Amino acid sequence: MLYWDYAAASPPYEEVVQTMEQIMKLHYANPSSLHRPGAEADRLITRSREVCAAALGVQPQEILFTSGATESNNLAVKGAALQYRSRGRHIVTTEIEHPSVYESCLQLKSLGWEVTFVAPGSTGVVDPEQVAAAVRRDTVLVSVMHVNNETGAVQPLREIGSRIKAANRRTLFHVDGVQGYGKLNTQIKEWQADLYSLSPHKVRGPRGVGILYVKEGVTLFPLLTGGSQEQGVRAGTENVAAVVASAKAIRMSGERREAFNLQILPLRNRLLEFVSGIPEFTVNSSRDGAPHIVHFSYPAVNGEVMARKLEELGMTVSTRSACSSRLAEPSRVLLSMGRNSAEALGGVRISLGDSHTEADVAALEQALLTAVQALNIVERGTR
Ligand code: PMP
Repeated sequence: MLYWDYAAASPPYEEVVQTMEQIMKLHYANPSSLHRPGAEADRLITRSREVCAAALGVQPQEILFTSGATESNNLAVKGAALQYRSRGRHIVTTEIEHPSVYESCLQLKSLGWEVTFVAPGSTGVVDPEQVAAAVRRDTVLVSVMHVNNETGAVQPLREIGSRIKAANRRTLFHVDGVQGYGKLNTQIKEWQADLYSLSPHKVRGPRGVGILYVKEGVTLFPLLTGGSQEQGVRAGTENVAAVVASAKAIRMSGERREAFNLQILPLRNRLLEFVSGIPEFTVNSSRDGAPHIVHFSYPAVNGEVMARKLEELGMTVSTRSACSSRLAEPSRVLLSMGRNSAEALGGVRISLGDSHTEADVAALEQALLTAVQALNIVERGTR
């Protein structure tokens, strides 16, 4: 079986697994405890914060550890909205955000906030002018992702950041960086981002831990209360082993970014060209997109049918993002790009990782051809 779902979860580095095991065995003390083992566990967290900060080019006190990027995104959006509610109750985001941002905005809307959802163009990229035009005096937050998790479309964050700040310098800018880190350059300062979310398990780290960068001077309304951990913004006993292993994965994947691109880009380009040559497919990714995602629609059948057929043929792919793949509804992201409902139901996402080779891509291409042939016959038979 060949695994093509790195954008959903990636296999942890061997060093990550070893670190997890070692820390769980040796440093099980609670970092809040005042005794020496507790202080040692706390020191490990401090060190991990420094490692993550160095990888992101920010200060250690600007890094918070959470339970995952879903929590980081919830905390960024709702924590900022609640904290700065006296400044205004308007938020700007896009129609293509991950559900953890999108639904946080919908929840705030149900509580009386106004939300402007900016639509992308047909390539899945949002126009910085449109984002800036939506910013008002009472806009507290703008949230735009770095790389879309379905199509791999890369958003022009530098332009968006500078236009937001020109429109209203008090408006905070949040970036969901989950699918960009380790693949593209992360430029928190150049983007003028105040908040940035990261998920270690997308870059060969452990699951169940997330990172949120909070710019010095920005405060958030805590969503979890009951302890003074993480500067009182995120209560709960830290997962020391996962935090230390995350820092390792963030450092390693950051250092390997260029090598990763060199290896993966030719494979991505080959695959993109291949799927573009299949007349039955509508391709939803482009060469300008992130190096690890190829997404296409096969409108003849539901994406799930295609994914199951490919699995029978030894290829594990995804229909869209793992977080929404159990929904039978058309993809909100594809609809917002102007795809029709058959296309939005027939999405298939292939995501590459550093284990892949030319031979793997050749095998996947063969499987795609076989699947289309088989499904075309079934389709014709049922009409
Ligand atoms: N944002 C994006 C863009 C994602 O792809 C994901 C993972 N599907 C998340 C947020 C949520 O991350 P986590 O799995 O760490 O909660």
